[in-house]
Order: sequence, then C-alpha cells, then structure tokens
Amino acid sequence: MSSSTGPARTDVVLVTGGGRGIGAATALLAARRGYRVGVNYRADEASATAVVEAIRSAGGTAVAIRADVTRTAEVERLFATVDAELGPLTGLVNNAGTLERQCRLEDLDEDRLTRIWAANITGPFLCAAQAVRRMSTRHGGRGGAIVNVSSAASRLGAPNEYVDYAAAKGAVDSMTRGLALEVAAEGIRVNAVRPGLIRTGIHALGGEPGRVDRVAPELPMRRGGTAEEVAESILFLLSPAASYTTGAFLDIAGGR
Ligand code: NAP
Repeated sequence: MSSSTGPARTDVVLVTGGGRGIGAATALLAARRGYRVGVNYRADEASATAVVEAIRSAGGTAVAIRADVTRTAEVERLFATVDAELGPLTGLVNNAGTLERQCRLEDLDEDRLTRIWAANITGPFLCAAQAVRRMSTRHGGRGGAIVNVSSAASRLGAPNEYVDYAAAKGAVDSMTRGLALEVAAEGIRVNAVRPGLIRTGIHALGGEPGRVDRVAPELPMRRGGTAEEVAESILFLLSPAASYTTGAFLDIAGGR
C-alpha cells in the first residue's frame, strides 16, 4: 500500500540514462517506492538489463529501452514504448548526460561542443517536450513531475576541466525555470537537482577516474557523495511530498 506521499501503484516514471550511476540508483529507488520504471540507455545494454532484472526480482515492474536522447525519432520511440509497456507517464527524470576529457576552453573544438550541447541540452529538451505532451492538462493529461539532473558545475563553472559541460548544465537550469513557469498551471512541476562530486563512472570520461578522491578533501563535508544520496532527492521532488515545489533547485554537493 502506498503512503500518503507515495505514488499510486499506476505511477510511471522514465529515467533517461537509467542503466548506470545516478540514473540506475534512481530507477532502483523509484521501483522500491512503487513506480513502474522505464530504464533508458544508449549503449550499455548489460547494465540497463541488470537494473531491470533487479527491479523485477524484487517484485517491481520495469523495462529497458534503448534510445539516444539526442535523436528526435529515437526519443519519440522511447516515449511510445513507455506508453505501450508501462502506461500513462507521470514522471520524467532527465538524467542522461555526459562530459569529455578535461581541458581548457581554448582547446575545445566545434565537434566536441556539438556533442556536449546535444547530450546535455538537446536531450533534456526533447524528452521534456514528449513528457509535457503526455502529462499536461492542456493536452488532456493528468499532470506529473519532471526532475532535471543538472550539476553544481552550472554554479562553479568547472574551470580547467569542462567549461562546456558546466555551460550546458547552465542551460538546463534556465530550462528548468522557464518550463516550470510555462506548465505550472497545467499540473506539471519541473525541478532540478544539482549534484556535486558523486562516485560514478562519469569521472573516467573526463580522464580522471580518481577525481572524487582528489577533490573530496577540499569540500566542506570532506567526502564525495553517492548515487543513492542523489536518488533520494530526485524521488522527493518527483513525489507528492513536493507538491508545492516547482522551478526549484536542490543542491546535493556536500555544502559546496
Ligand atoms: P554515468 O555513470 O556516466 O551515466 C550516464 C548515463 O547516461 C549512462 O546510463 C548513459 O547510457 C546515459 N547517456 C549518456 N548519453 C546518453 C544519450 N545520448 N542517450 C541516452 N542515454 C545517455 O554518469 P552519472 O554520473 O550517473 O551522471 C548522471 C547525470 O548526473 C548526468 O546528467 C551528469 O551530468 C549528472 N551529474 C553527475 C555528477 C557526478 O559527479 N557523477 C555530478 C553532477 C551531475 P549508457 O550506459 O548506455 O552509456
């Protein structure tokens, strides 16, 4: 039985990039809270399948769906699959995102900028559009919630590491505010989490798998965070416990 702040058993959430890291922790926690979960992935089928198997073996409902969120046709197919296999969407976690090797701004080239904008900006926009078309009362929907996974980098700028990624997350912050206001009267809440230094595989993409251990001593809490700690905040913002919260940012960055 769901609690007064938990989901109805029919609630359906799609987690983009749900096979690994923060997305996987979010998918697993959402299932434990009673959501039916769409686990999107781009390439790592084994990880996404493992998340779905873990959910099913605990009695939950989940489906793994391959789609590159930067491609309109693939995003349309992703959401159509959720409709068909899980039912009407009530939540979207715009989690898929990426970064590339640490460098200074003068060493960024056009191709990399195009990839970074696509994965971190275009993807969340395309997915949010599909979610709004399904959840907005303006389109006959029942309302719902969107949680964007931004980053503390949008505030800090990520100098000497990835200013491009930080700027893309700045765009996600602007989209969070703008979309929240656009759909506030249509039953949809839009919020963002801004994780700080979280132990996932993303740091290896930057060329420094040990980045968390290097930077952690400089943080107010003197440690990195876990994907599960971020998932807790995402689930709060998705849930009716956050029913009067929209256009808000929750920093999960150990005090930074
Ligand atoms: P991660 O472990 O590298 O996982 C990233 C996930 O995103 C993977 O499941 C990946 O799919 C998916 N993905 C990437 N590009 C995609 C695309 N075009 N289409 C569909 N899926 C795509 O990273 P993470 O640390 O969990 O990051 C999750 C989110 O948190 C990102 O938005 C990231 O920017 C943000 N964040 C992370 C930190 C941190 O310290 N870890 C801090 C702040 C913000 P595959 O598995 O198929 O490759």
